[in-house]
Amino acid sequence: MDAFEAALRETLDKTEAKGLLRTLRVVEEDKNIRVFSTNNYLGLATDEKMKEAAAQAIQLYGTGSGGSRLTTGNFTLHEQLEKRIASFKRKEDAIVFSSGYLANLGIISALMREGDAIFSDALNHASIIDGCRMSKAQTFIYQHANMQDLEEKLQRAVHSKKKLIVTDGIFSMDGTIAPLPEIVELAERYGAWVMVDDAHATGVLGKTGAGTAEHFGLSDRVQLTMGTLSKAIGAEGGYVAAAASVTNYLRNYARSFIFQTSLSPGVVAAAMKGIELIQSEPERRQTLQENATYMRSGLQQCGFTLIEGNTPIIAVIIGDAKQAVHFSRLLEEEGIFAPAIRPPTVAEGSSRIRVTVMATHTISEIKKALASFEKIRKEIGIIG
Ligand SMILES: *Cc1c(COP(=O)(O)O)cnc(C)c1O
Repeated sequence: MDAFEAALRETLDKTEAKGLLRTLRVVEEDKNIRVFSTNNYLGLATDEKMKEAAAQAIQLYGTGSGGSRLTTGNFTLHEQLEKRIASFKRKEDAIVFSSGYLANLGIISALMREGDAIFSDALNHASIIDGCRMSKAQTFIYQHANMQDLEEKLQRAVHSKKKLIVTDGIFSMDGTIAPLPEIVELAERYGAWVMVDDAHATGVLGKTGAGTAEHFGLSDRVQLTMGTLSKAIGAEGGYVAAAASVTNYLRNYARSFIFQTSLSPGVVAAAMKGIELIQSEPERRQTLQENATYMRSGLQQCGFTLIEGNTPIIAVIIGDAKQAVHFSRLLEEEGIFAPAIRPPTVAEGSSRIRVTVMATHTISEIKKALASFEKIRKEIGIIG
């Protein structure tokens, strides 16, 4: 082992000693394992209509787009998808990226420049954090969902040129909903725009599944709604819906849009079908909500400490990182896959099992999962 490799090993060993080493786990359709942590909330990623839509597009256009949107990779399909997203999100236009991660990098770094100020919730997704880091704007991190802290930071930045408040709609590791009415009010008072990351809220919240702004009736007062096509929508890619002036600007300045091969035809067709199914089959969303309520109250009755909320993301707090990993392993032995989430993804001492329910879970599957949670809790004696 040379010095380079030794340095890598040293860092890995330290991480492992703290119980924080990350390893990959293969999750496939295994009849003996039921996944209780996927973001495929509505089950669309394995739906037959989705597969058909993707297969048809592949037959017609092939497996790869062969270029970026601004060169040879712009198909009618891409433009149709953007129109579909815009009307779903009730915005003038939309622009699609290759992932939600790349969308956040591109949107934030392009829109927010030197002399501007970004206000970002402390629990925002890593892609928002990285987008802020890549931007030359000053970034203020406000305490999670703390409106007093947000207002203090807005006051400190009154002389900034452009101001943007950015928040997850549903927080991915806590399952809580952002206090959007209060955020919008502050934004209007201080002349800021609001950007909501609806990765987990699209297909889940709102009368038509359009997300957090629709849930609160605030679609007209949120300037930027970004999201991913890879969670409830069941495909892959990222997007932002906004005024046409914003999307035109991003087509010119968002580097992760410009210098990236466009999404492959199969993925685009699946994404379009996913949005169509979200709109035409609201019963999926209804079942998802019922399953979430059932799972949440069941876990509460077993005596687990949960983060309050009513979304399909249920954070079961274990505390210690090693114990959370142990818990997750025991769950797996019971045929339930729900990984432990540890620092740095979540705060020290708040390691957890991130449970999510799907519209396609049956009540008997949920009951079985609850029985396993209870059994393991008794076995290892976690104090809730
Ligand atoms: C998953 C996620 C993203 C990234 O989306 P991808 O399409 O997976 O790259 C961005 N923001 C939030 C809040 C997410 O949960």
